[in-house]
Amino acid sequence: MKPNSTVLLGSLNTEFVTVAYMVERYCKDHHLAKGADKNTQAEPQWQSALNLCAECSELLAYAETRLDRCPYGEQKPACNTCPIHCYKPEPKDQMRQVMRYSGPRMLLQHPLLAFRHLWLEKQAVPELNKQMIPNRKKRKM
Ligand SMILES: [Zn+2]
Repeated sequence: MKPNSTVLLGSLNTEFVTVAYMVERYCKDHHLAKGADKNTQAEPQWQSALNLCAECSELLAYAETRLDRCPYGEQKPACNTCPIHCYKPEPKDQMRQVMRYSGPRMLLQHPLLAFRHLWLEKQAVPELNKQMIPNRKKRKM
């Protein structure tokens, strides 16, 4: 089962699924492998498609909220090229560790998602404009 977000639309959900697999891979090798308990909460729905400890579930929920509120909406650039720094320092640091570890490993496990992301990193960051609608606003329209 794919860890789809039930709130994110289109490319933002693809982005979420990518980051979900990356957090899962990191958690598997760093937390669950060392005896951390798997989070067995049923909500949100993506939880049941993933093996994550409580800490990583929280990090991924945070990522989902940031994607939901991203002012670029579905035109969102790759996070590491984005001029807006929307993560708080602590989750930012956690996420950086996840990316560093899981990034190269994604090429083998989820090559399509990995290549999509690498392609996105090569694109110019779009200028924010009024046609861009944050997901949170869009899903309430
Ligand atoms: Zn974890």
